[in-house]
Amino acid sequence: MPYWKDYKKPDFLVKQLDLNFEIFNDNEVAVQASFEVELDDFDEFSKKIPTLTLHADQNLEVKFIKIIYNNGEKVDLNLIKNRKKGEFVWQPKFGKFRIETATRLKPADNIALAGLYKSKNILLTQCEAEGFRRIIPYIDRPDVMTVFKTAIIADKNDYPVLLSNGNLVERKELSSSKILVKFEDPFKKPCYLFALIAGKLAKAEDFFVTKSGRKISLQIYCESGKENQCQFAFRFLKEALRWDEEVYNLECDLDEYKIVAASDFNFGAMENKGLNVFTDAYVLADLRTATHNDIIFVATVICHEFFHNYTGNRVTVKNWFEVALKEGMTLFREQEFIYTIFPKVVERIAAIKKIKNVLFPQDLSPQAKPIRLEEYQVAEEAYDVTTTYTKSPEVIRMLQTFLSEKKFLKA
Ligand SMILES: [Zn+2]
Repeated sequence: MPYWKDYKKPDFLVKQLDLNFEIFNDNEVAVQASFEVELDDFDEFSKKIPTLTLHADQNLEVKFIKIIYNNGEKVDLNLIKNRKKGEFVWQPKFGKFRIETATRLKPADNIALAGLYKSKNILLTQCEAEGFRRIIPYIDRPDVMTVFKTAIIADKNDYPVLLSNGNLVERKELSSSKILVKFEDPFKKPCYLFALIAGKLAKAEDFFVTKSGRKISLQIYCESGKENQCQFAFRFLKEALRWDEEVYNLECDLDEYKIVAASDFNFGAMENKGLNVFTDAYVLADLRTATHNDIIFVATVICHEFFHNYTGNRVTVKNWFEVALKEGMTLFREQEFIYTIFPKVVERIAAIKKIKNVLFPQDLSPQAKPIRLEEYQVAEEAYDVTTTYTKSPEVIRMLQTFLSEKKFLKA
């Protein structure tokens, strides 16, 4: 069981991760991965090499794990002897090496809703908090950040839309039916922000010009026929991009900002770097039927996931005990932005009503929790809807009140 007091920074860092997905059908996906691993504070003459742990879900079908040292020596890991519950552990010979892995995934059979799974008609991923270990054996912790390059091969008729984080750098026809796409994400990120989408989706497009004059392509993918319901999402997204530049002096670092509105996504919304995934009710609004509250909801969730691009993604957490830091800071930014487009008195009173009616009763009950836990059994316990999403932004707001707005923004 992880304890906050036991946190140790990682012994090994990952230099770059190359992922290759080949999608045969909804229930057969082959994944090959290759990544460079190096001791933090690498010293060629270091005698004492710590053991390495790769997290891998117990149900993950692993074909091989190879370790390739710089001197050319190759080691095939014993997949039975070295596999403990939920991880592979072994003693490397040197402090720098490459790991190659092969796994097989069955998205249609994956009912854990973590890792790669089938949701209605598309394949999609959910990796926060610890879903990436259902895709490949990896150092699945948020303080291990690296650059991701992702290639996807699939049938172009069954999976015309193939997406991952970062920029599309190649799209090539391999045969009359197969296509290959390659994405490169230039920013280091923890694996919980990895995303992959494959399936039939329509696309709506817009763009935003940053204060330095860079053009960002804004893309929303949704069910065919719903493209005209994206206008509110685009409008609030562009307003949030501008607000972050003006208030926090943060210019969006992406070239492509992609949002997938999935009609069957269980997590509300997820801020994967450059490729957010939303339940479509949080993105789409039909002009003829949407209520005032529906529109506020779209604005709130769209800006929240965008604000994570800095608070959470570029500046991330070091472990899951700190989840309230990224959520609290992002929720606080979300609230401040929302107060600029909807009447602040109305919105603030609604927030305070929630504190009085939901948070205070919980805090007076045995269910009371601090925003940072001392221990948990599984990482998901660190997310308590009321504590994480109602209490933590108020703690951030309290800091601003103590410091003054000017000093808070400077900090
Ligand atoms: Zn969030």
